[in-house]
Amino acid sequence: MSSAPKSPVVTRIAPSPTGSMHIGNARSALFNWLYAKHTGGTFLLRIEDTDRERSTEASVQVIFDSLSWLGLQWDGEPVFQFARAAVHKAAVQRLIEAGHAYACYMTVDEAEILKEKSRAEGHALRSPWRDRTPGPMEQGKPHVIRFRTPDEGETVVEDLVRDTVRFPNKDIEDFVLLRTDGTVIYNLGVTVDDHDMGVTHVIRGEEHLSNAGRQTLLYRALGWPVPTFAHLPLILGKDGGKLSKRHGAQSVGEFRDMGYLPEAVRNYLAKLGWGHGDDELFTDDQAIAWFDVRDVVKAGARLDFDKLNHVNNWHIRRADDARLAGLVLPILQGRGLDLPADATAKLQVVIPLVKEGAKTLIELADLSIYALKSRPLSLDDKTLGHLNDETRARLARLLEHLRAANDWTPAGLQESLKLFAESEGVGLGKIGPALRGVLSGGAPAPDLGSALASLGREESFGRIQDALSQVR
Ligand code: GLU
Repeated sequence: MSSAPKSPVVTRIAPSPTGSMHIGNARSALFNWLYAKHTGGTFLLRIEDTDRERSTEASVQVIFDSLSWLGLQWDGEPVFQFARAAVHKAAVQRLIEAGHAYACYMTVDEAEILKEKSRAEGHALRSPWRDRTPGPMEQGKPHVIRFRTPDEGETVVEDLVRDTVRFPNKDIEDFVLLRTDGTVIYNLGVTVDDHDMGVTHVIRGEEHLSNAGRQTLLYRALGWPVPTFAHLPLILGKDGGKLSKRHGAQSVGEFRDMGYLPEAVRNYLAKLGWGHGDDELFTDDQAIAWFDVRDVVKAGARLDFDKLNHVNNWHIRRADDARLAGLVLPILQGRGLDLPADATAKLQVVIPLVKEGAKTLIELADLSIYALKSRPLSLDDKTLGHLNDETRARLARLLEHLRAANDWTPAGLQESLKLFAESEGVGLGKIGPALRGVLSGGAPAPDLGSALASLGREESFGRIQDALSQVR
């Protein structure tokens, strides 16, 4: 099953720091991380900050934070692409000297017109400056450096996902390597950096497939071995359309804020384009053991929040309760609630009782609130409606009954409530809704036995007593 390559695998994620970290980029990072882990290789990070106008310090931090939150720790120090400008330019110089690149003095308009003309003639742009030596007129004039794409033949990319992809060279223009301002173009920077970083496997989104053709030309011209490419299928919306804002969360930060656990996001993202049989729910160790980039499929993968919720619920149920308490607390604090000093300890008691029903950490917070309210609880109208004289008298008798209860556990209390109802000659339905409301103040709460057990004797008695003295 395992197909670990012979030489150590080096993968990388190369995000541009120009905003939030998109979920597609996170999926690429995950697949690179999984493949490196699966093969015992290395996973590197390169910040592609060559676009000086759009790259920001804050976005670099977003990349670090997003990858850290996702638990995709890269090996070694991150590489900053802009800092390598001199190395990139040296590579361009080498290409010029070897006849693979040339200075082109066309203006932008001239290039546009020629592009049109070339297209009409059935091939991509070839600049007249290919075979022209700049004269004194061109001295100091703005120019770009273009790659001299071969006219004949084709460039073949052997892609682990897309199989053999052929690009006729006549369809690849003489693409720019250096802009007029001397900054390098993406394809050149990526090729030089991937080579220098020893990257063996370039795993990234399908939108870069045509770049793989250009990059292959550059590797060959520079005399370097071409890495193995794997282009991942697009992530689509649930309806099969292109993923966009209207489908909901798009960035790693949004998924975090919606209350998804990082291991659930990893689990779910792994399913977007890859899978292990019918397994929907799995751990990192399983994913690492199973993952092979050769098993990635070509078809676009649909992002389905219902499925993600299901995966998240599974991971919440497996997660450590102290950790969950630490994650739920700031959510509640963010709502400006007046929380008791021992809120964390209380959450640790409540969370195991309610987490089964929580699809997100937000829901887990909602399900836990009842236990953190401070007395006296303000009662909702529904609960007040239940508290007629008969029910109040019954609640008072229940209070005495509970004071005598020995087994203060969910099961013990459930049993005790049953016995009480029997002694009253009524069904539990006669007392349940009122008791629930009195204990929770109308907030969601687990079954009554669990609610009482989680609140503890003192708090439970207090809340019942408060309700009895509150309602006249
Ligand atoms: N900076 C590019 C991106 O974020 C990197 C593409 C690649 O992995 O080569 O799309």
